Amino acid sequence: MMVAPSPKVRSLVLLRDGQACVSCGARTSPLEMQHRQRVGAGGSKVRPDAHELATACALCNMRFESDLQRQALAAGWKVRSWVPDPGQVPMFNKPRSAWGLLTPEGGVALLSPAAAVAQMREVYGPEWDRWADALPVGMQGRTTR
Ligand SMILES: [Zn+2]
Repeated sequence: MMVAPSPKVRSLVLLRDGQACVSCGARTSPLEMQHRQRVGAGGSKVRPDAHELATACALCNMRFESDLQRQALAAGWKVRSWVPDPGQVPMFNKPRSAWGLLTPEGGVALLSPAAAVAQMREVYGPEWDRWADALPVGMQGRTTR
């Protein structure tokens, strides 16, 4: 059971993400608060902070659990449940083509793609590289040859 964010946190997250789905950039379809990290059985009783949420349209939110799952992990829209702090996992804002680290207060510290990828590998190790090709070229931290 996921607890809904407070209206204040919801509006902070919408503003931070540019009032658009972080995956497809949709602004018109209903925008949802995507919980980046699944909580264990029994759920969390505390309202999520901004760094635990991402703005997603209803369709992408569903697809993060199916055909977009690898991209969602590679982009930090989804965070593995064992990660101690979702604030450690950078998030990719696809319509803005920007990586950032999220703060609980709704801030975002922008990261270069290279810095974001280094941080992802710090958290996930080589597993991250198995998801990386689901990201746009140039955002995968690989040099072209
Ligand atoms: Zn979307």
